[in-house]
Amino acid sequence: MSETAQSVWNSCLLFIKDNITPQAYKTWFEPIQPVKLTDKALSIQVPSKFFYEWLEEHYVKLLKVSLQRVLGEHAKLVYVIKMENTYGNKVPFTEKIPSSQRGNVASQEVDVPIQNKSPELKNPFVIPGIRNVKIESQLNPNYNFDNFLEGDSNRLARSAGMAVANKPGGTSFNPLLIFGAVGLGKTHLAHAIGIEIKDKYPEKTVLYISAEKFTQQYIESVKKNNRNDFIHFYQLIDVLIVDDIQLLSGKAGTQDVFFHIFNHLHQNGKQVILTSDKAPVDMQDIEHRLLSRFKWGLSAELQHPDFETRVSIIKNKLYRDGVDMPEDIIEFLANNIKTNIRELEGAIISLIAHSSFNKKDITLDLAKKIVDNYVRNTKREVSIDYIQKVVSDYFQMDVETLQSKTRKRHIVQARQLAMFFAKKYTKASLASIGSQIGKRDHATVLHACKTVDNLASTDKQFYKFVEDLRKKFEM
Ligand code: ADP
Ligand code: MG
Repeated sequence: MSETAQSVWNSCLLFIKDNITPQAYKTWFEPIQPVKLTDKALSIQVPSKFFYEWLEEHYVKLLKVSLQRVLGEHAKLVYVIKMENTYGNKVPFTEKIPSSQRGNVASQEVDVPIQNKSPELKNPFVIPGIRNVKIESQLNPNYNFDNFLEGDSNRLARSAGMAVANKPGGTSFNPLLIFGAVGLGKTHLAHAIGIEIKDKYPEKTVLYISAEKFTQQYIESVKKNNRNDFIHFYQLIDVLIVDDIQLLSGKAGTQDVFFHIFNHLHQNGKQVILTSDKAPVDMQDIEHRLLSRFKWGLSAELQHPDFETRVSIIKNKLYRDGVDMPEDIIEFLANNIKTNIRELEGAIISLIAHSSFNKKDITLDLAKKIVDNYVRNTKREVSIDYIQKVVSDYFQMDVETLQSKTRKRHIVQARQLAMFFAKKYTKASLASIGSQIGKRDHATVLHACKTVDNLASTDKQFYKFVEDLRKKFEM
């Protein structure tokens, strides 16, 4: 039987459809066009680079399984990116595109072998003759120095990282401890150093591991009675990167084993790179002898990025995603999300997603809405206005309807829910809540709160309303 790209893809879709929500299917799979089938490789065309990255990030397993069901285990997937340039006329990919294809629609092929993105660390214990085994570095190539933008907030850590990468084990930055609050780039920088080392010194064994996974492996080794093999394995590494070392706090056994590994590596001129969300002085429940080791090298802090750095991080991300965004929106984002680069990126991604799938331009209004989702709990008090807005949105009515005098049941319920949450999440008095939600008196608000309590415990559907809304406010 001869198969075509279309027939293979149709079979994949049947399987995919059964495994995701109809909404996700519609958004992410309907727009895909199968374009070519050669041997075991199916080429699919996607509308943008962003789209492709989204698929890779969220649906790679599903795609893999579905394709392997149809084409066997050697199935391969090739993405063809067909870019419709809807955001102004900047097409950052033009460099890679033959000039004949430049214009509004460009296509770029990305050949992606389907593979497990984060392969499990090869179990070091069951492999005899470990010295001959190539150890996978577990590094993420997307976290490199090129896209780790420099600013005052990270200059020290970044240059120290560079120095270490140039001469692993050969600087006084050993260990190099990178510390800073969540979302400021510790993991990114740690990977970047590892990648740079692999690049410069391909013969060196580099290993990235999270402290959490390290702990799990250690516990496993104790269970299996091969703690020594565990230690030996780690002592073979030339550059050991342990992320989120603060997670070792309170874990005496793991700390002990790490202490031995550390000493061995250090004595042998091997490089150790650590990250932590706290400065060494603030780490609790970490053994003194281990803490003092952390202080042997350099502790470099990642601070909150300043405005300029935030702007360049946003611009760089947009450029890589092939998206153009008006300057005022970039500034709005940089001004409103200040303390966490991951949140900044999250906001950008949501913004792009909203705009590209609703076929709307990226506007300041949309940006405001999205930023609300990111900064609400840190900066915003929940206001009664906000509560009314969320409740009305949830029931797909407008605020005026929610406040109106009508006795229609679903509107009354929405209003009562708004009052209930206003009581729960603000310090406003019953009277003040009443006057702001449709000019009612305090008795009405009190009655509303009781009704919501009652209904929530007797009516399943209503309980779900309360829970859904609660999640929105407590997000
Ligand atoms: P942490 O490990 O400190 O919590 P991450 O390294 O996971 O933070 O960084 C969060 C996100 O912010 C990542 O997507 C990372 O790529 C991005 N990021 C952090 N710092 C920078 C930077 N200087 N330039 C570009 N992106 C950055
Ligand atoms: Mg991290």
